[in-house]
Amino acid sequence: MYKISKENVFFEFNKENKPILEVNPGEDLIIETDDCFRSQIKGENDLVTAIDFSKVNPATGPIAVKGAMPGDILVVDIMDIIVDKKGFMVAIPEEGAFGHHISEPITRVINIEDGFFIFSDDMKFPLNPMIGVIGVTPSGKPVPCGEIGNHGGNMDAKIIQKGSKLYFKVQVEGALFGLGDAHAGMGDGESVICGVEIPAVVTLKLDLIKKPDFLPERPIVETSDRVICIGHGKTMDEASEVALEDMLKLITNKTDLNKTDASMLISAVGDLKVCQIVDPQKTMRVEVPKSIFSKKGEYYL
Ligand code: CA
Ligand code: CA
Repeated sequence: MYKISKENVFFEFNKENKPILEVNPGEDLIIETDDCFRSQIKGENDLVTAIDFSKVNPATGPIAVKGAMPGDILVVDIMDIIVDKKGFMVAIPEEGAFGHHISEPITRVINIEDGFFIFSDDMKFPLNPMIGVIGVTPSGKPVPCGEIGNHGGNMDAKIIQKGSKLYFKVQVEGALFGLGDAHAGMGDGESVICGVEIPAVVTLKLDLIKKPDFLPERPIVETSDRVICIGHGKTMDEASEVALEDMLKLITNKTDLNKTDASMLISAVGDLKVCQIVDPQKTMRVEVPKSIFSKKGEYYL
């Protein structure tokens, strides 16, 4: 099994990036991810305002998948996420939903113990590891890892966790996949501007669907019981519309329902949820029960 160190990072999804490794479809990989600060924050005296911002949101990779061509789907099966022992949270004046309440930058160490993150002496919460940045490389201009696009990127969707399967439209030969920005936990919204930022070790499998009959424009996530479309836009409204339209397209392509019936179905059983509201591009998601797609024998795609 390949093991990839977190020394191998990139800061923008760029088709000129040289792959650090080429793997065969179906191979298991163990990938280390650095925290979103590239380990520049080591304690509570290290402030986020003092770090080198050209080195934030690293993604490990890029990893090329042999045979991946534009028009294929890259399937990413997240088998495990093990977070490190120490995470960080930061708050920054005028940033995030609470920036106006924050008078000076602050860093908090959040320790991890026995499956919990320790928020304070009397408050601890079960780990809920997730991946903030994950995607393939776009065919157009480079996109910094801190941004979001149709290729994925900094989606900060907490349903990207152990057991999730992600589907990306391959845009360049080899797909040039990467991931980073793990969180030990994060609330929907990521309101203050971060989750519990932490390095992690992710076990995953990369596979291909060659020439699929339906090619989603943006990432789709499948969990044990849900199928989820993630949309992005300048406002939560825009991001919601993108996610809802994507789900409508998926359902009308993958079931016998027409647009009207599919709209009603989404309204009856689909949940529109927030991913994050703190970046210039917001991300929203629509979740529906996976059983919607089960009629054709396989769940979907
Ligand atoms: Ca993020
Ligand atoms: Ca983060």
